Amino acid sequence: MKVLVLGAGVAGVAAAWYLWRDGHEVTVLERNAAVALETSFANGGQLSYSYVAPLASPSVIPKIPPWLLRRDSPLKFVPELDAEQWRWLVEFLAACNQRSADLTTERLLRLSFYSRSLMHELIAAHPLDFDYVRNGKLVVHCDERSFESARRLLDYQRSLGCEQDALDARETVEVEPALGAMRSRIAGSIYTPSEDAADCFKFCNELARVMGSGPNPVRLRFGVDIRRLLALRSRLIGVETDQGVFEADRYILALGTGAPAIVRPLGIRIPVYPLKGYSLTLPVTDERAAPRISVTDFKRKVVYARLGDELRVAGMADIAGRTPRVDTARVGQLVEEVRMAFPDATDFSRLQPWCGMRPATPRGTPVLGATPYSNLLLDAGHGALGFTLALGTGRVLADLVMGRAPAVPLDGLRLGD
Ligand SMILES: Cc1cc2nc3c(=O)[nH]c(=O)nc-3n(C[C@H](O)[C@H](O)[C@H](O)COP(=O)(O)OP(=O)(O)OC[C@H]3O[C@@H](n4cnc5c(N)ncnc54)[C@H](O)[C@@H]3O)c2cc1C
Repeated sequence: MKVLVLGAGVAGVAAAWYLWRDGHEVTVLERNAAVALETSFANGGQLSYSYVAPLASPSVIPKIPPWLLRRDSPLKFVPELDAEQWRWLVEFLAACNQRSADLTTERLLRLSFYSRSLMHELIAAHPLDFDYVRNGKLVVHCDERSFESARRLLDYQRSLGCEQDALDARETVEVEPALGAMRSRIAGSIYTPSEDAADCFKFCNELARVMGSGPNPVRLRFGVDIRRLLALRSRLIGVETDQGVFEADRYILALGTGAPAIVRPLGIRIPVYPLKGYSLTLPVTDERAAPRISVTDFKRKVVYARLGDELRVAGMADIAGRTPRVDTARVGQLVEEVRMAFPDATDFSRLQPWCGMRPATPRGTPVLGATPYSNLLLDAGHGALGFTLALGTGRVLADLVMGRAPAVPLDGLRLGD
């Protein structure tokens, strides 16, 4: 079958991988000059299989006013004259209830555990070089109350299949000695040994390298700006681009934050809004002072991952329009976080700042599969977990193209669910 994958971020690349393995004639269309140059470029690097709880939960409501008032808060809101921003916010607030948060967590865990098994299968089968480590994660709590409530959640998390332990401050620093610099602030941590980390950009490039060579290679068409989907009654008949019209039997839409605008003229609404986040990439200059295990500062919502000889630090969620412009004040706040947590780990004069737009849905679940157009399938809305979930969602899309039943149920993950 001829399949067109629209978008070469981690979602599109992973879908192309499984479609290619199924023997289809796959073409990927991408406006940039290479894969993973937008949101999949310098994300937090966490393969966060056991930490999928959505931002939309009842516990977030009381935190919103102080977050909005503090300049250095992890969440920032800049109101825009954009009906979609307000609609997204209303839907987000409506999802901030326990029932919705629990359902989302269960659905995302199914998808993330599936993605983990696919990742381990992939690594066993292919020698790919993308700074992958199976090093576990420590979620560090700096106040007693939040540590206590995390402890109370352990049984629930275990009942869902997560392997986690609570550690006191001494045990936390034993597991990750680089946390010694902030020892006096640590109340405790939750340790998940089964978490992975890796470089998403390198991952996409490695998959592209393998599937772009050999017999029946995937055609990666760069510098192609997708303008319009061409439909006739309930089918797509082509994709109009600045390089002409491309035609296929099936179309997979994996355009990240670009997805809603492309399908809107067809009468389809995907509830995705960009949540801007920041990362820093820093060279590790002192091995003992930089973490080897992935670390999350729970209160500040900052994640640290060791990627080769670099430290990747990521955080912040700004509901602040659609422009991926780096705000130097936000970068400065992230630098301060690193100075407080791992002051001797790096040479701060060599930091590389970056910002990216998470394609976020109000509930935090991706939107997968069928649309009112029989040959157009969605692979959108991966939000804060695109790297974690990409193999699972990619495989689901390939199954749907083949008419196979996906290994994970799609309830709550389809358009309109
Ligand atoms: C600061 C930050 C930290 C993060 N940390 C993590 C993490 O630790 N773990 C994790 O799992 N996830 C993380 N994420 C989320 C993750 O990066 C995203 O979910 C993921 O990259 C989304 O992938 P995508 O393929 O859907 O979108 P993208 O990577 O944005 O890909 C979409 C592609 O479509 C192309 N495109 C769009 N419109 C058009 C058009 N009209 N014509 C042609 N091409 C087009 C774009 O150029 C782009 O290449 C983080 C995100 C941010 C911002």
